[in-house]
Amino acid sequence: MEKVIGIDLGTTNSCVAVVENGSAVVIANRGGYKTTPSMVAMTEAGKRLVGHLAKRQAITNAENTIYSAKRLIGRKWNSPQVTQVSQTASYNIVEGPHGDVRIMLRDKAHSVPEISAMVLAEMKLIAEEYLGQEVSKAVVTVPAYFNDNQRQATKDAGAIAGLDVIRIINEPTAAALAYGFGRNIDRTVAVYDLGGGTFDVSILEIGASGVFKVISTAGDTFLGGEDFDARVINWLVEGFKTEHGLDLRRDRMALQRLKDASEKAKIELSAVREVEINLPFIMSSGRNEALHLQRTLSRAEFERLTADLVERTVAIMKQALDDAGLQASDVEDVVLVGGMTRMPLVERSVAEFFGREPSKGVHPDEVVAVGAGIQGAALMEGASPQQKVVLLDVTPQTLGMMVAGGLMEPLIPKDTTVPTSRTKAFTTSRDNQTAVKILVMQGEAEQASENELLGEFILTGLRRAPAGMVEIEVTFEINADGIVSVHAKDLETGKEQSITVTASSGLTKEEIAAMIDQGKNFALERKKDEEFEGLRQEAEGLVHEVERLFDKVARVVGGSDYGRDALEKAQGVIERARLAIDRRDVAALKEQVDALSRTLRMFKGVVAKG
Ligand code: AMP
Repeated sequence: MEKVIGIDLGTTNSCVAVVENGSAVVIANRGGYKTTPSMVAMTEAGKRLVGHLAKRQAITNAENTIYSAKRLIGRKWNSPQVTQVSQTASYNIVEGPHGDVRIMLRDKAHSVPEISAMVLAEMKLIAEEYLGQEVSKAVVTVPAYFNDNQRQATKDAGAIAGLDVIRIINEPTAAALAYGFGRNIDRTVAVYDLGGGTFDVSILEIGASGVFKVISTAGDTFLGGEDFDARVINWLVEGFKTEHGLDLRRDRMALQRLKDASEKAKIELSAVREVEINLPFIMSSGRNEALHLQRTLSRAEFERLTADLVERTVAIMKQALDDAGLQASDVEDVVLVGGMTRMPLVERSVAEFFGREPSKGVHPDEVVAVGAGIQGAALMEGASPQQKVVLLDVTPQTLGMMVAGGLMEPLIPKDTTVPTSRTKAFTTSRDNQTAVKILVMQGEAEQASENELLGEFILTGLRRAPAGMVEIEVTFEINADGIVSVHAKDLETGKEQSITVTASSGLTKEEIAAMIDQGKNFALERKKDEEFEGLRQEAEGLVHEVERLFDKVARVVGGSDYGRDALEKAQGVIERARLAIDRRDVAALKEQVDALSRTLRMFKGVVAKG
């Protein structure tokens, strides 16, 4: 039976889990790590690297190493968030053909879903290697606060990676699922998720019958670990400027090293009270002299540098509670998610806020993937009743449309349980109006333009009549993935039009199809690469063995014509094997591996006899 995997597609790290024999397993990658950096790189030779391999070469190839693509997914080029990334990222981003964002890898511009697809494809491969079978279906998590554009783009990324994303679930909901599944508890729980790039908090009710109901959710898709790193970077850069009058930001390589060192210092400060940051030869003084950076950062200083970031999460927690109509003391358990929750100040602030210690026992880096895996198993064909779960999630932002005066008319308020739909009747506002344009928006601002435009569509062919005489019914629907679709109906003619609201910043169907093909090519290439690597190792091992025995064999049979002939042939095989390796010719190499094995057997026979 085909397994459905659960993927936590994180800003900094991704993680994949699957349910086996009733319990969720977090799958380790080849390096033995259970999380894989959400990083993609292209080497000078045009080789694509994903995960740890990409991270390891980030310093020397900063311009072609993409991280934090999740911060850009589903966003428009002209959004403030994109501007912020473009100012700080070590890679280049450009405007795409749909007012979307494209990321440069070497000379090629890639859409953001394409970059995320490379990470998803890697997670798929990790799962396939573990399971020993192909995987085509996944549950993928997104921050609860993701709007429709971001969800749609995440689904597109799945498709490009060759994965049918059968459900999108919210990260905090997944965490609650991992925490409460199978425990038969009846409790109000808060999930505080501070990851690499995003912050979410959700209040849920977990029912003993396996029902997970989200009551409210709040968050900020631009608040996470990287902002903490940035404070350390800033502190180092300013210090360096004061000391040497030089700006480290001007040097991409230096900046990348600073970034790594800052994250490392931050992580260490979760365990120790003081760290030393040491970056020798960080920059040249311009007078033929190398400058070093060396500073000590205390936990207290680090907490001072980042206190306002933690404060921001506290304000968002308050909002989530307000929206749920609850007091902090009503929350019976607090689940921490995301690597950043290991920071003592974060833990302290959350404990203080709720007046209780957060629950231990769920692994903050893996809990979301585990929840996704559990949901995946529940959605599998033939899932057992024990595997079933009922997730009642909510829409994180108000859905509405633009009306006269540029105002937003709310239709489905935030925190409404999904799936849901609302129907509303409208009348024409002008005489002889034959078409209406509907702008679908998401967000809380009164001014429509300040909200996220999800899409627009035009209902045409209305009967000519005086204003107010033609009635149109519009139905807005949000499915369990949080994805929006809209139908409009001319009540008189029954004429209907519907759209799945694809983001104006999204990709067209044709573009996605082309990218899926490219993704397949890459998977094939990668398989070929792996096959070659395996053969190369085998061939080199055999060559080594044959060469080791060469002199002995020569001593035994080198005197005869037959022997000399055999030795010459052996040398020929070795040469051809080396040539095949140089040319990366898999077919030829296979042949030479066979020939080398035969030669080795023969050599061994000679040595044994001789
Ligand atoms: P996530 O997106 O959940 O993988 O969270 C990753 C973020 O957590 C990154 O910003 C990491 O630097 C940060 N992180 C990981 N481990 C720790 C730690 N021990 N202390 C503080 N931050 C950490």
